[in-house]
Amino acid sequence: MGDVSDSGSTAPQSTTGGRARPPSVDSLAQSLAPSGLPHGLLVDAARAAIAAGDPGSAAERAAAMERSLLRPVINATGVLLHTNLGRAPLGTAAPGGTGAGGTAALRYSNLEFDTQEGVRGDRHTHAGALLARLCGAEAALVVNNCAAAVTLALGALAAGRGVAVSRGELVEIGGGFRVPEIVAQSGARPVEVGTTNRTRRQDYVTAVEAGDVALCLRVHQSNYRIVGFTEAPAVGELANLDVPLVVDIGSGLVDEACQWLAGGPPPWLRGEPAARQTLAAGADLVTFSGDKLLGGPQAGIIAGSAESVARCARHPLARAFRAGGLVLETLQSLALTYLHRRGDDIPFWRLATRPVAELRARAESLGVGEVCDMAATTGGGTLPGVEIPSAGIVLNGDRAAALRDNDVPVVARVAGQRTFLDLRTVDPADDGILAAAARRACGA
Ligand SMILES: *Cc1c(COP(=O)(O)O)cnc(C)c1O
Repeated sequence: MGDVSDSGSTAPQSTTGGRARPPSVDSLAQSLAPSGLPHGLLVDAARAAIAAGDPGSAAERAAAMERSLLRPVINATGVLLHTNLGRAPLGTAAPGGTGAGGTAALRYSNLEFDTQEGVRGDRHTHAGALLARLCGAEAALVVNNCAAAVTLALGALAAGRGVAVSRGELVEIGGGFRVPEIVAQSGARPVEVGTTNRTRRQDYVTAVEAGDVALCLRVHQSNYRIVGFTEAPAVGELANLDVPLVVDIGSGLVDEACQWLAGGPPPWLRGEPAARQTLAAGADLVTFSGDKLLGGPQAGIIAGSAESVARCARHPLARAFRAGGLVLETLQSLALTYLHRRGDDIPFWRLATRPVAELRARAESLGVGEVCDMAATTGGGTLPGVEIPSAGIVLNGDRAAALRDNDVPVVARVAGQRTFLDLRTVDPADDGILAAAARRACGA
């Protein structure tokens, strides 16, 4: 980055037609200081503005730079796990604030230190142990995302050998996760069984008996459904083959019983595979994302038998894929919240389970637009076609750009020249900002 401490280093450009000399880069950058951006970035903006022959554009360039940074947005799309908006919403509770006895200004941690013995510890013993308990697993390992979890599990258990997988489960999940490619990347060889719409236990048996199959892989279809003349074996039917069963459930529902929700499992969750039940049915390992229905940060979790999890942990890719301390602290806090059965303290579940009457009442009190019932979705490649009753407001016309232009950008949905603001995904604390943005977007 250019270091422009001496404003004299920018030679004043000669001007024609009696126009004023452009300001020096440094003085222009100084004038942008109230933006709060570091000086070096303001120098870049000033320099670009002067180079473009338009010094007056420096402030807008600095503002554009600021807008390009990560910052909070209000998600009024009604898509709870919006892939473009960071999937699961994260709360601001300090790590340790849910019972781990942490202090607010935690700077060092015992990430890899055994405080009892004073020797090197293992980063997988904290969040990993709690997540294992949550899933009813012997052990669990946290990596960077679910794609890494599947790659590692297959690499550790099946490299150089075959992985039996149904032709109906050779899916692509958004953002480049393609099952055949992941299997190949792990060093294993896909052994396709069954057909696109129907696969039976016997298809897996035949593949296992025919040759060098290290494990059977089931993949949750996640973002699409095959309906009609379809068949797939239950997890339990594949549990007693001669090879281990790995199930990529993807979505990260930890337990069908949803004991962390006072009202029990919401009806729209029906049929979604859960880690605890999949393991209880006999899967050796399950893999899932941290930032889908689990409601945490981006992460991938491998949970299951102690032996298989240990094999994953020993694999060289485990080092490359491992989660960092910030993610592990957040997941630990999340796991404790689940174990406390405080679903309302998990932003995703709090938003997902608000009664629709409450959303309607909030929509009324916004005092702008037309109150309207809506259908929210979980999104993020989960529960395709499943709608969660919701409510919000509708504005006439396409107001999306004006709403995004708000200080805190508001992301809405536009259909048929109407703009829909769904309150299912909006923190009630943001209602005032949302109402003001809506009023401004409508030119009021
Ligand atoms: C979402 C998903 C993935 C990918 O998860 P990431 O955490 O985004 O890597 C893999 N498998 C299934 C079944 C999924 O639903």
